[in-house]
Amino acid sequence: MTTKERHFVEDCFFLRPKDALMGLRVDKIVGKENTNTTNKPGELYLWFEEDLIDPNIVHVSVNGNEPQKLVLEYINATYGQRCYLICNCGHRVAKLHLTPHGKEFRCRVCLNLRYRISVTNSRSIAGGALHNFSRISKLMEMRERIDRIFYRGRFTKRYKRFLMLCGKAGLNSEVDRAQNLLETIKSH
Ligand SMILES: [Zn+2]
Repeated sequence: MTTKERHFVEDCFFLRPKDALMGLRVDKIVGKENTNTTNKPGELYLWFEEDLIDPNIVHVSVNGNEPQKLVLEYINATYGQRCYLICNCGHRVAKLHLTPHGKEFRCRVCLNLRYRISVTNSRSIAGGALHNFSRISKLMEMRERIDRIFYRGRFTKRYKRFLMLCGKAGLNSEVDRAQNLLETIKSH
């Protein structure tokens, strides 16, 4: 088996039990709730078993491909019954996904889907700010341990190191302040 292509949940079209229960109302499925309309399948047909022999089975065909059988399962919850979809792997899920250009609906585990947000968070501005925040806290702790910043009219080694790290962390104000301080002292 070749390595699976990795997709994001956000890029996949999904189907919920209520969508399956709506039967042929495909236009409704591709409505506003399923906002990822860019990756919607060209054609999606849903139909129940003939004469509803088993009302818990819905057939779905994506872009004219061989139909897939979807099994619905009702579970008793606190407020009545909840309907789930059963993935081919046996997982009972609230959503089945279809990857872009995919032919078959499967669960998130089967499709090896990740959430875009979980990947981008560590790199995002917010994530970066949080990272920077802990970095700055560490720098401030470091600064507190430096009791001497000058020695014979020059910055001490420890303080220089601190300033270098400040610069790396984007704490330019700290570096500028130190520079101004040094210049003020020198001019006196
Ligand atoms: Zn599955």
